[in-house]
This record gives sequence, C-alpha cells and structure tokens, in this order.
Amino acid sequence: MGTSALRMNEQIIMNHKNANWLEVGLDHIWLPYTQMRTAPAPVAVRRIDGATITLADGRQLTDGVASWWTAIHGYNPPALRDALSAQMHQLPHIMLGGLAHEQAYRLASRLAGLMPGQLGRSFFTESGSVAVEVAMKIAIQYWRNLDGRRRTKFVAFHGGYHGDTFHTMSVCDPEEGMHILFADALASQYIMPLPDTAERQAALARLLAEKDDIAAILIEPRIQGAGGMRMHSPAVLQCLRRLADTHDTLLIFDEIFTGFGRTGKMFAAETADIVPDIMVLGKALTGGLTPLAVTIVTDKVYAPFDAPEGEKALMHGPTFTGHALACAVAMAALDLFERENRLAQVRHVEAQMQTQLRPLAGHDKVADIRILGAVAAVEAMVDFDIEAARAWFIDQGVFIRPLGRVIYLTPAYTISDAELAQLTAAIAAFIMLL
Ligand SMILES: *Cc1c(COP(=O)(O)O)cnc(C)c1O
Repeated sequence: MGTSALRMNEQIIMNHKNANWLEVGLDHIWLPYTQMRTAPAPVAVRRIDGATITLADGRQLTDGVASWWTAIHGYNPPALRDALSAQMHQLPHIMLGGLAHEQAYRLASRLAGLMPGQLGRSFFTESGSVAVEVAMKIAIQYWRNLDGRRRTKFVAFHGGYHGDTFHTMSVCDPEEGMHILFADALASQYIMPLPDTAERQAALARLLAEKDDIAAILIEPRIQGAGGMRMHSPAVLQCLRRLADTHDTLLIFDEIFTGFGRTGKMFAAETADIVPDIMVLGKALTGGLTPLAVTIVTDKVYAPFDAPEGEKALMHGPTFTGHALACAVAMAALDLFERENRLAQVRHVEAQMQTQLRPLAGHDKVADIRILGAVAAVEAMVDFDIEAARAWFIDQGVFIRPLGRVIYLTPAYTISDAELAQLTAAIAAFIMLL
C-alpha cells in the first residue's frame, strides 16, 4: 500500500468520528436495494417510540410501516427493552454447540405450545431468508432420510417473495421479483399461478401428478407481502393442503410476514384452519428489536431425522443460532400477546382502515383496495414517481413507503386511532393528487 493510500485510510479513520455521520457514512455504507448514486439520502432518525419516529432535525413522523413490518408492539416498548437489558447483564449469548442457555430452550417449548397442530420442533436462525433456506434443506433431506428419494425441487407462486439468498431467490417471482439479473445462476423451480381458480388448481394437480422431484410446495399464506400485498382466500391454502396430501409432498408456509397476528389470527394458517408441515417465522417474532427467525416442523417431518445414523442429522449450524438476547426478547414479546390482547387490537386497526380507506375504492385512480388484519394496500391505477411520493409523505408528517403502485400500511398493532387516522388521511390526500 502506498503512502497516499495510508494517508487516505487515516482520513477515513478520523471521519467516523465526524459529527456529520450521515454525509460521511454515505461514502462507505452500501444500502439495501438502492442505487447509491441516484437515490435521495435517507432521513436521519434520532429516536423511536410507539408509532413515532423522531428525526434528527426534530420533526416527528407517524409510522405506517413498522420497520419492514416487524415492530408490531410499537417502537421501543419498555417490556422488550427490559427483557433485553436483563438478559444482556446475565448472559448475552453462548453458543448452542455443547452448551445450553435457558432462553432458546424455553422459546422452543413455548412456540411448540403456540403453533397449530403438531408443529413442535424449532430450528433458530438470524434472518428470514436463512430460515427459508433451512426449510428447503429440511424438505429435501426429509425425503432422502425417509427412503432415499431424491426430491430437490419446489413449487412456489407468482407474486411470491421468500428472501434474497441464492436458493430463496429461486422461489421468488421470476419476473416481478427483484432478482431477474441472477436468473441464470439460480436453481430451476416450478413457479405457478396461485391456484385461485378451478383451472389453475387442475394445472397444479397435473404438475404434482407428473413430477416425482418435488420436495415441497412453498407459499406465503393469505398475503404475498413484498410482492405487493397481494391477498388470496383461505380456499387457496386448503387446496394446497389437499394437493400436498394427495400427491405426497410437503407444504411449507413462509409466515415471516403474516405470523404473530398480522392477518388477524396468530398465524395465517389458522385463518384457513389447516396446518403446514413446515412453518417459517421471523420479522415480528422479536417485535423488531433484534434479528431472529425460526423454522418449525411437525413431528411427521422430524421423524426421519430422529434416527441412529449420524448422516441423518440436519447439517446446519449458524454461529448465532438461538441467540440468547433475541430469544429473551421473543419470550417477552409473547408475554405481550398474553397480557395485552394484540389480536383485538389488530381487529380494531382493521375496522378503522376499512372505514377510512374503503371509500377510496370509488376513485378513478384507484385500481384495487385490499385490507386484511393490520394490512391495507391501496393500489393506484397509474405509475407515480416513487421517490417523490416517499418524500411527499414525509412532508405530511408520516412514514409511508409505496411498493411500486401499491401504497400500503402495516402499522404497529398498538397505534392510536388518531395516529392511524393521520396515515389513512395522508393516503387519501395522495390519491387525490394522482
Ligand atoms: C422479509 C421476508 C423474508 C426474508 O426475511 P429476511 O429476514 O429479510 O431475510 C422471507 N419471506 C417473507 C415472506 C418475508 O416477508
């Protein structure tokens, strides 16, 4: 390294102490899904409480997104903060290889009690994408352990999103998903239309009857989130359960978005009264405080792994599996569900969004309105400048981030009537401008 390079590094080392951390850091940070050159700089945040984001310049925004749908109890809730802090003092984390800590074991037991059906065995990871990868790995190995069958492919659906890692990209919507650039590097899967008509159900049934390499069907039940808050009926899920049973394949629910009350029930599976073979949870599991995700399987799926042969073990082990801080927060978040009737709050949020957003259905610039649980999507008929829209919402004192033509709300379940009214009014005002 030449001396000028060394000098430059010294400059960078000094820079991280600069008071203007945002401007300096923008030269070094790489942001998600962002063209760094053209995207407007993000707004600096000083603190977060409930449904309020306080910006560095003192302005306050009412939040309609809950940080990628995670902060369902509101921001910085004292109960979660206290649980994190208590755990931090005693045992921040210790690896699960050869050692055990209370929080991961208690959380696994508690999730087993909470899940529908016989979903009783939990594998912890630190991101949703990895938890979906683990589900796919389990499905492939399930057939191999069972009787040596080689089934390595998945059925997934148009409009779906399951993560950004390589195998999860292969099950996202191939065109509208965000990974088209990688198409030739991805495993090929069977990506089908959702079976929401008799014709599509028949097509899916034919595929399942013809192919003998399908390890599992994978779906985001009831709401495809990142794909634009698209909703489908419980009948679609009941059809998938039936087809999976008839054609002897597994059914995986990716409830990373829908889990923990978002659709009005604790899990979207319950709205269709069916149980998947594998369930994936993440996002709201810790109320957005710490990363944590989990892949949970039924006794049936676990059985072929529970064998004397070492090679039948699940060969997966993230460094931070079962992170103690995250598990402690998840336990406290589940306490909040017991203490504060979150599901009633979701119904209340849903009713208010129906009252305040449904009337927009008559507007000629509105293509569709979809509301389920604490999710509302207003789909515009026309394209608009998404960055300008995001900035406009901030000027109105709200944080709302449209996805394409879809303006959506996924607020904290604890949001007040007045705060939610501010969000719905901002959406109505935006529609009038189109
Ligand atoms: C967010 C999300 C993922 C990916 O989770 P990460 O924690 O971002 O890796 C996967 N599936 C669904 C349905 C999601 O909403």
